[in-house]
Amino acid sequence: MSDALQTDNLISIPAATIAAIHRAVANDLDPTGGAELLRQIGLQMGPALHDHFWDWVAESRMAVPTEPGNFGFEDFWRRLSDFFDYLGFGTLGIEQLHPAVFALSSSDWIEGEVADNGHQGCQLTTGVLAGFLRKVADRDLAVLEVECRGTGDDQCRFLAGSADALQQVFERMQLGSAYAEAVANLG
Ligand SMILES: [Zn+2]
Repeated sequence: MSDALQTDNLISIPAATIAAIHRAVANDLDPTGGAELLRQIGLQMGPALHDHFWDWVAESRMAVPTEPGNFGFEDFWRRLSDFFDYLGFGTLGIEQLHPAVFALSSSDWIEGEVADNGHQGCQLTTGVLAGFLRKVADRDLAVLEVECRGTGDDQCRFLAGSADALQQVFERMQLGSAYAEAVANLG
């Protein structure tokens, strides 16, 4: 008997569930604590989504490689965007901003549509992407959302890169730099 694929263990839940999670967290925690809990939930989800992704690629029977090491950069990101779109999260565009940092952008990301006046950004997604990408890269990666539809921007935009580089970007943003400037000034 072969092991069950992850795709056999897929559930579908309404997108409104994400809004419900945001509300429940906001009821009990201050914004900083709430953001951290959402991020932690996402971090726990990321590795399972990663495993599901590769089963989904294998089962799609498309003329593309099905082993992680055989994927080119463009192929990988296109398939990953298709995967998140298929799950209902939204599409993701990729742009390399710096050797240590790339940006993932989405104009239809579902967490950005959570109707909530106190939207703190797509914290669940920052955790999901970090958990997912850490497993892809097999090293410590960080994800930071720098634009969000939930807080009035035209798109959600996540920076992903080494924890060290993202920490430097975050600290410069805290001092008032725009994220693009903070990334450009990385060594
Ligand atoms: Zn967002």
